[in-house]
Amino acid sequence: MITINDYDFKGKKAIIRVDFNVPLDKLTSNVLDDKRIRAALPTIKYVLGNGGAVILMSHFGRPKNGPEQQYSLKNILPCISELLELTVQFASDCICDEAIRQSKSLQPGEVLVLENVRFYKEETEGSIEFAQKLSRLGDCFINDAFGAAHRAHASTTQIASFFPAAKMMGFLMKAEIENAHKVLTNGKKPFTAIIGGAKVSDKILIVENLLSIADHIIIGGGMAYTFIKALGGNIGNSICEVERIPTCLAIIEKAKLNGVEIHLPLDSVIADEFSPTAKVTNCLSNQIPDGWMGLDIGEKSCLEFQQVLSKSMTILWNGPMGVFELEPFSEGTKSIATAVASATNNGTFSLIGGGDSAAAILKFGFEDEVSYISTGGGALLEYFEGKELPGVIAIQN
Ligand code: AMP
Repeated sequence: MITINDYDFKGKKAIIRVDFNVPLDKLTSNVLDDKRIRAALPTIKYVLGNGGAVILMSHFGRPKNGPEQQYSLKNILPCISELLELTVQFASDCICDEAIRQSKSLQPGEVLVLENVRFYKEETEGSIEFAQKLSRLGDCFINDAFGAAHRAHASTTQIASFFPAAKMMGFLMKAEIENAHKVLTNGKKPFTAIIGGAKVSDKILIVENLLSIADHIIIGGGMAYTFIKALGGNIGNSICEVERIPTCLAIIEKAKLNGVEIHLPLDSVIADEFSPTAKVTNCLSNQIPDGWMGLDIGEKSCLEFQQVLSKSMTILWNGPMGVFELEPFSEGTKSIATAVASATNNGTFSLIGGGDSAAAILKFGFEDEVSYISTGGGALLEYFEGKELPGVIAIQN
């Protein structure tokens, strides 16, 4: 596998697969969070700075059946131009002859943005013919879309086969893989994984895989209540996936066998309804009265989790400890974010999974006090579930 530093971009057209799937303001169509675009800038600027021209290729939202204005990448051109400090060109279809003509006439230092690849159903079908059409647009292929690396789509995976000697990872993709790999295989011990979020079913595979890697697994958020019920607790009206109780028990058993300590929240912040104006009180997580639901971890849990984190040398965090979007239930997630930042300041390596945990770290202002914040939600999760990411394999093989 060659790296981006091995390739001579002078006079070449580089197709860069980026993940510019950014949120837009519904009324103004302004980009609400440009993090994903910023994350790809080092790769784009490197190619431009080394005499190449860039063709940017991305998906945007989930169009159902062909082009839809709300999912056009045209919406984000001003933002891309502003961040790159140059006016970018736009191809209103990603594989038509006009796009090829535009790409051919690109000069070194220029950027062409292709329209949403998902306007063709062939993209998500992983069509090799569609990938071949995309490949005609450039001399080499760089994949910098870690957030889409778990999808075997035409522009993330199949396209790489058309550049056997000129396919490489972008800087973002490389950093994501290196940091995730470090935690999974090479992290200093003790290694603590904090897994939260709404549902057990979304996180079962990652917890199972971590049972042979982690020393401690802290389980918080809504998913903790299925575990607590499995252990015979009363969880009132808390979120629960009854059908997952046997899996939770199996996890607890396997953790004992493997010497992994599972930490569940001893106490909870409970509410009489799922609302910011609900009545709120505290109680033990296994004694939640009927009519009440656990929406955050309580003070005792925060203290226990903080102690575990302060002794950890490697931390992986995926998923909030409670409904942190609502003020009355944000304290648990905030206290975990504080503990992760403080451990990091003392030399611990901390990797924050994308999605809600990244949002929480930003919300509480700790983005500069953790080791790495991943841009990939689903992709990172699948990596830690032990799965191979098709977008990564396609570059490596
Ligand atoms: P996930 O996408 O699986 O990481 O879940 C994140 C969502 O879980 C956030 O929107 C939280 O509001 C929600 N969540 C966290 N704790 C709870 C809880 N105790 N009950 C219900 N939802 C929760």
